[in-house]
Amino acid sequence: MVAGDEGVLRRSPQPPDLLRLHEAVATLFATQGDWRRAYQHLRSALDIARDGSLRDVLTSSYNRRYLDERLYGPFADRRPARPRPALGIALVDLDRFKRVNDTYGHLVGDRVLRRVADLLQEGLPPDGFCARYGGEEFVLWLPGVDAGDAVRIVDAARVRVARHPWSELQPGLHVTISAGLAHEGPDAPTPPERQLRSADDLLYAAKRAGRNKVAYHDAQSTQLITHSE
Ligand code: GH3
Ligand code: MG
Ligand code: MG
Repeated sequence: MVAGDEGVLRRSPQPPDLLRLHEAVATLFATQGDWRRAYQHLRSALDIARDGSLRDVLTSSYNRRYLDERLYGPFADRRPARPRPALGIALVDLDRFKRVNDTYGHLVGDRVLRRVADLLQEGLPPDGFCARYGGEEFVLWLPGVDAGDAVRIVDAARVRVARHPWSELQPGLHVTISAGLAHEGPDAPTPPERQLRSADDLLYAAKRAGRNKVAYHDAQSTQLITHSE
């Protein structure tokens, strides 16, 4: 256990105990024949279980299953004819994260992942979300913002991570992220999964350019923005 760790085994925001409590109360009402109340508590238990199944256990951000539901699920909007808001999709990857694990250990690495997830969730637009894509990669889903705002949101996240007082966690620790951002205007025909692939290509451009960068396309070319930290 790391000194001062806020909980290596932090789970989804809804504690499983609450789920069990609803189940137990539902059983109690059922044995009394009060089906209406039993149903209400089972519904609450179901809502908690569903929310938990869409959350990443380590960081409490949304998980890959939630992202896939938004990309491919029954509620995903993949029909080009239907009005669609503008959408930015950013793929974010921690820089040299293996080194963090190798130098400070995996428990510190886990704490870094949790903190980065918290920092990424700040400043998202309404209906936007952050999902852990896998390992040390996160997706930012930015609906209803124009291209310039999408760049500003993702770069603000990059700067927030770079300026975070990481040495309070471990002396000498520095953490940065790189991101690829793909943006489409309203009613664009590009399906979100193709946008995610573009974001992935751009992420590699940001890595190749030296990390701690956001890469995106503007009208003419690929742009990279960075900061002096
Ligand atoms: P790059 O800048 O090129 O992305 O380098 P990197 O070191 O971040 O990339 P690499 O793919 O070599 O290493 C990713 C590391 O992320 C290796 C893996 O152990 C670590 N990692 C993935 N998931 C977790 C996790 O849940 N907890 C911890 N502590 N580490 C994780
Ligand atoms: Mg990676
Ligand atoms: Mg990485």
